[in-house]
Amino acid sequence: MDCSKVGSLLLSLRQERGWTQKQLADVLNLSDRTISKWERGLGCPDVSLLPELSAVLAVDIEKILLGDLQPNDEEVGNMKKLKFYVCPQCGSAMFAMGEAEISCCGRPLQPLAAQEVSAEHSLNVAEVEEDYYLTWQHEMSKQHYLAFVAYVTYDRVLFIKLYPEQAPEVRFPRQQHGEIYFYCSQHGLMKQRIARPDKPRKVRLPEV
Ligand SMILES: [Zn+2]
Ligand SMILES: [Zn+2]
Repeated sequence: MDCSKVGSLLLSLRQERGWTQKQLADVLNLSDRTISKWERGLGCPDVSLLPELSAVLAVDIEKILLGDLQPNDEEVGNMKKLKFYVCPQCGSAMFAMGEAEISCCGRPLQPLAAQEVSAEHSLNVAEVEEDYYLTWQHEMSKQHYLAFVAYVTYDRVLFIKLYPEQAPEVRFPRQQHGEIYFYCSQHGLMKQRIARPDKPRKVRLPEV
């Protein structure tokens, strides 16, 4: 551990939160002199304190050890770099606007690569009122189902979680351009462009 790097990281994280050295010290049950010593690089926190420090300051332990947060380039955060993640253990789905270090159930998750949609997975897209009305033939059994559908435009992600045995349909408020991403529990992430029909097709929904 490079104590002066670690110290300046701890200082900036504390200041980000607007805490005094005393406030941080109290949370950790330490003296403010200890905090002051770290921040001046005159000593490193004991390894046994790292889990608590990481929880209190909301940063990874390894980041504290490196003394460096290495933020992403700001330009990275845009929808073209949108990445989806699904935890293989619990099935939780997440997305990020760029490279992110995401973990779930104690393991790091890799971003999913979207495949072009295959015939058996293709979604049927109709325009209904102000919405896109999506339906599909794909089964929705516990073993094999679509787990989420996301409609991604240049400035928004509309994300719908799906459940086994539910009706194979979702509606999204219609935007100008966009892509549909969806995740099959067996075949992974797929991408389907929404092509606006030349003549808007009016579809009447069945009365409920
Ligand atoms: Zn998980
Ligand atoms: Zn499938």
